[in-house]
Amino acid sequence: QVDRYLYHMRLSDDVLLDVMARFQAEMVKGLGRDTNPTATVKMLPSFVRSLPDGSEKGDFLAVDLGGSLFRAHQVKVFDDGKQSCQLESKFYPTPKEVIQGNGAELFDYVAECLLDFMENKNLKHKKLPLGFTFSFPCKQTKLEEGVLLGWTKHFKVRGVQETDVVSSLHKALQKHKASFVPAGDLDVLALVNDTVGTMMTCGYDDQRCEVGLIIGTGTNACYMEEMRHIDLVEGDEGRMCINTEWGAFGDDGALDDLRTEFDRELDLGSLNPGKQLFEKMISSLYLGELVRLILLKMTKEGLLFNGKVSPALLTKGKIEVQHVYAMEKYKEGLSNTKEILTELNLSPSEEDCIAVQHVCTIVSFRSANLCAAALAAILTRMRENKKLLRMRTTVGIDGGLYKSHPQYAKRLHKVVRRLVPNCDVRFLLSLSGSGRGAAMVTAVAYRLAAQRKQIDAALAPFLLSLETLREVKTKMRTELEYGLKRETQASATVKMLPTYVCGTPDGTEKGKFLALDLGGTNFRVLLVKIRSGRRRSVQMYNKIFAIPLEIMQGTGEELFDHIVQCIADFLEYMGIKGARLPLGFTFSFPCRQASIDKGTLVGWTKGFKATDCEGEDVVDMLREAIRRRNEFDLDIVAVVNDTVGTMMTCGYEDPNCEIGLIAGTGSNVCYMEDMKNIEIVEGNEGKMCINTEWGGFGDNGCIDNIRTKYDQEVDEGSLNPGKQRYEKMTSGMYLGEIVRQILIDLTKQGLLFRGQISESLRKRGIFETKFLSQIESDRLALLQVRRILQQLGLDSTCDDSIIVKEVCGAVSKRAAQLCGAGLAAVVEKKRENRGVEHLRITVGVDGTLYKLHPHFSRVLRETVKELAPQCDVTFMLSEDGSGKGAALITAVAKRLHNVGQK
Ligand code: ADP
Ligand code: MG
Repeated sequence: QVDRYLYHMRLSDDVLLDVMARFQAEMVKGLGRDTNPTATVKMLPSFVRSLPDGSEKGDFLAVDLGGSLFRAHQVKVFDDGKQSCQLESKFYPTPKEVIQGNGAELFDYVAECLLDFMENKNLKHKKLPLGFTFSFPCKQTKLEEGVLLGWTKHFKVRGVQETDVVSSLHKALQKHKASFVPAGDLDVLALVNDTVGTMMTCGYDDQRCEVGLIIGTGTNACYMEEMRHIDLVEGDEGRMCINTEWGAFGDDGALDDLRTEFDRELDLGSLNPGKQLFEKMISSLYLGELVRLILLKMTKEGLLFNGKVSPALLTKGKIEVQHVYAMEKYKEGLSNTKEILTELNLSPSEEDCIAVQHVCTIVSFRSANLCAAALAAILTRMRENKKLLRMRTTVGIDGGLYKSHPQYAKRLHKVVRRLVPNCDVRFLLSLSGSGRGAAMVTAVAYRLAAQRKQIDAALAPFLLSLETLREVKTKMRTELEYGLKRETQASATVKMLPTYVCGTPDGTEKGKFLALDLGGTNFRVLLVKIRSGRRRSVQMYNKIFAIPLEIMQGTGEELFDHIVQCIADFLEYMGIKGARLPLGFTFSFPCRQASIDKGTLVGWTKGFKATDCEGEDVVDMLREAIRRRNEFDLDIVAVVNDTVGTMMTCGYEDPNCEIGLIAGTGSNVCYMEDMKNIEIVEGNEGKMCINTEWGGFGDNGCIDNIRTKYDQEVDEGSLNPGKQRYEKMTSGMYLGEIVRQILIDLTKQGLLFRGQISESLRKRGIFETKFLSQIESDRLALLQVRRILQQLGLDSTCDDSIIVKEVCGAVSKRAAQLCGAGLAAVVEKKRENRGVEHLRITVGVDGTLYKLHPHFSRVLRETVKELAPQCDVTFMLSEDGSGKGAALITAVAKRLHNVGQK
């Protein structure tokens, strides 16, 4: 009979799945900027972005307002590796005149209780960080501020709504400043909802805990949401705890089909009619009353107690939630029920007792069911956020109904597991509740503030002011001049090597050429066919060959024999073995040239270190190796730096291109300089391309003021310590290594990876520059960053990955800015050479760092614009400068040579 009577309260799994779907939609609505104003589930950002990591420590105070009791706590958190934590609390009554009076009185009362507690615990003169658990919906804009949106539960205090409760508490504490010296100075560091407090408390014991749930006087849940889904808070990085305020679910009528006449009646008699409708079907504050309303109606209809209604049954609040708990103790039979009903002056028969017990069960089971459905929606959302098929997670729970009701917990667990079979959920009871939670939030905030300071300090040297960048530009300019002057060039660090390339292509170049590209990541041999006239085009065929490390760092003879072997393979592969083709040799290392086909290696850079090459002519070495092989002959026409090749390639398309820039494995620039400025080359007419070899900038110590200890470590671990200092701050070969050095340092300071330096982090070169590009990509979610780090053997938390991304950003930004400052010096010099107010110029660029890093090119361009405002610089991507450019230079040289011979 009861079952039939309460048919509407018994929810099947189908209905629950439907509720779950409705709640999921409501969450999305609450998170969206445009939909939030009309959403009933407010999804309030809590500004709690991190869970405890176990390294929190210190003494904290907390006050907890909003549960059935008001409490003050002192929490000692020990950083002893055992996650231990000591809690001392004192309960204070919450008299009706306080919780339904006016705001000033309420906060005075809270302040007085806190001060009493401090006196009690002998803390009067201590200035401790204070956490404030305030379990009502608050709109927060930071951790230590919260504007009350509306009272819930049994609270209704005048003049508090729409005001910041933290500053109210602060004011109340200030008033007592005279009697308690430090009291007015107590810093409220965090305002926390009880759900958040519960999650944090449980999170301290179980790091998987990312959901907080309250089922007590009120009901509510919070969980960690991805920042990128939270429209109401700036930023896309990381996560933030969202206080769902799910109690208001259904306030727009979304649950009307499930609400019964009893729910409606109960709502009408409440402090806040029409509000918190979901909460009113779930929380312990209303369960007893629901049971009373049902019993009353059933009695009136003659279904119970022979139709005799007692005055007690007519009185609001006469059946309390404790009664429901007691009646549902099935193990104790019907005695509890009988006793309770008798006390209400009802004379129950045994059948009445059975029926009433059943009513209680249906009402409380419905509560657990609805709660489970909403929780299942949250869990599903989290699993989808994480893109997991199966998720393991922990839900921290607090609240009297969950704790004290004999069957509630078991039922809730069972239903949740049925609704989300692909989540392995652990339910963790919060032991010392929301007070410890507030202290924990405060402790985490405290820890994060301290960590932030340390991280900022580590990255500060990477932040270059505009002034510093201008200084770098000026210094670069000075070094460029030294390199050009006869007296200073021998000792100059920026070598300004003449290339004997005196003109850019004019479009009449044609023929078949071979090109070699040595000095980048790949060694390549190319066949380039250039056509002129109306069918002007460049066709290229190339083959990549590996240069094994032992050859890169073996003897010069071995290196060149290997190169010639590769050429032989290529000629064979292309079927042109007999042809004696003109060859351009792109050799991307500093070479002192005396003509276009002579180049003496000044010194290896990047990853090369073959013996007996420095000081030798690389063209001779190549010719000798060809002779040694004695299989074919080649006409080596030009030795070309990759920057020059890049400039020439772009110059083929745009005659205004007079600068070539490489931002790849290495960093370098060339540009067309007036002959009259090049003192070490005869002649004053026309121009010649200068290979600056600016990577050596700073080798005389002139930029040591901006070099960090990380740069020094990278330098010391490199093949050429003390050399190429600028290159080591700006190029692909080194950026990842700088990042690795910083990560090691931050880990040593305990700021990353739980202070554990993993084996892989110790490996030089593990952090390649391409990972910077991936990690810094705006499209990448943090989860993917974690996956990248995982591939590198770095087991990171969400917080870790934010820090790693920040480190990468600092390193790559500095690289782009420094490169921009150098380039500004070059374009300014060109402008002055031309003697113009405004210069329009094109820079040909090549290099994977420039091409693939998500921000490098933009920052570089912005810096040049800022530092050389009188120059209008166009950047042009080069399509394979080292191949095409070498062929073009060879073609030009060949043409000029033939002209000369004629
Ligand atoms: P090279 O300069 O050796 O001729 P590249 O211009 O292709 O050749 O540059 C290769 C260098 O670019 C690599 O050494 C590496 O440091 C860097 N690199 C590779 N992939 C990326 C990427 N996705 N983003 C940024 N840098 C990268
Ligand atoms: Mg290259």
